[in-house]
Amino acid sequence: MFQFPRLAFDAQADDLRAQIRSFLSTERASGGFVPQADCWVSAADPEFSRKLGAQGWLGITWPKEYGGHARPMAHRFVVTEELLAAGAPVAAHWIADRQTGSHILQYGTEEQKHDILPRIAAGECFTAIGMSEPQAGSDLAAIKTSAKRTDTGWVLSGRKIWSTGAHFSHYIIVLARTSPAEGRNRQVGLSQFLVDLSLPGVDISGIRDLGDTPHFNETLFEDVELPGDALLGTEGNGWAQCMGELALERSGPERFLTSLIVLETALPVIARHADDRRAGEVGSILANLRVLRRMSLGVAELLERGESPATLAAVVKEMGNRLENDVVAKLRNVLAGIPRGEWPDGLGTLLRDAVLHLPSNTLRGGTTEILRGIIAREMGMR
Ligand SMILES: Cc1cc2nc3c(=O)[nH]c(=O)nc-3n(C[C@H](O)[C@H](O)[C@H](O)COP(=O)(O)OP(=O)(O)OC[C@H]3O[C@@H](n4cnc5c(N)ncnc54)[C@H](O)[C@@H]3O)c2cc1C
Repeated sequence: MFQFPRLAFDAQADDLRAQIRSFLSTERASGGFVPQADCWVSAADPEFSRKLGAQGWLGITWPKEYGGHARPMAHRFVVTEELLAAGAPVAAHWIADRQTGSHILQYGTEEQKHDILPRIAAGECFTAIGMSEPQAGSDLAAIKTSAKRTDTGWVLSGRKIWSTGAHFSHYIIVLARTSPAEGRNRQVGLSQFLVDLSLPGVDISGIRDLGDTPHFNETLFEDVELPGDALLGTEGNGWAQCMGELALERSGPERFLTSLIVLETALPVIARHADDRRAGEVGSILANLRVLRRMSLGVAELLERGESPATLAAVVKEMGNRLENDVVAKLRNVLAGIPRGEWPDGLGTLLRDAVLHLPSNTLRGGTTEILRGIIAREMGMR
């Protein structure tokens, strides 16, 4: 039932991997960044994003006419896994490069594509996701934010929450109600808008997470006047568009590699204290990572074919999130008994941050229970 096709890496992918590794090691050696766990959410550095854009590593699969580089999905996979493995500061551009850009490519007008995609590919334009609301998370169709037509465009009113990176982003894609639900069918009458976050009436306030990092926000829209061309895609098609966007959001290597930098950093000291128990724990992590990687590559291949593999993406995220929890728990076990004085520089901080970020893995991008529901539906069990 769940078929994950094989995605092959070509020789250029290997060259690309070597280039990225060399770039990252130079940057790290020169103090360009300090590795961080969960870097794609917590470590935002617009300057670093611009450097990646200059290398041609953002918008890498998009057509050249929109500032992209027309390379295959396999190359994008190489870029993302190398950046995650290094714990590089990629949060500024991550959402724009991973989903908003591809979403605009699919649903945007020519003007929207020409205006925004080249800037994302250059690492100069960042975006946020405006789906969740205080009373509408898993039950996304319960959103209250509304957009009403005016003579010149739309007026947007409502409150979005947990909007990652909205405080440094240029745009947010907002899901809003544009016409009433049809009885119990609340998925109709929803539309997506590409909202310029500098518009009057937009108010962004930071929310601190468990680790005291201000990476997400509450974003308030008080009668924000939007131009007519802020509508993204088709009026009333917002639900279907969101579901496609979530397939991009859920399946990538960030769903199982957020703590790899902790493992990499710990390996030398684990090796010095190797015993059967420690070797077994590390071996089990690596075996599971290998399987998840193969599955995530399969989803990338389906995206390459133009499909929207929402259920397979849910499978990757569900398993990936469990693995993330397991990696951190196993590492804590493996490191127990090894004197702190022998730990490599930075390991304590990396491990602490990975632990503090764990609760968010199974929430952001859809909770484990919701993902299991999607999988059960595909299997005809709901
Ligand atoms: C770090 C982080 C970053 C985020 N970034 C963004 C962002 O950028 N943009 C954005 O729009 N949102 C973002 N979110 C919000 C995220 O998508 C929601 O937290 C998520 O969808 C869950 O919604 P909720 O928090 O309202 O929890 P609820 O939906 O209230 O769920 C609470 C609990 O009830 C369970 N539950 C709910 N419904 C069911 C059901 N039908 N069956 C079984 N169990 C159920 C859930 O699984 C969960 O365990 C982010 C969240 C986090 C933690």
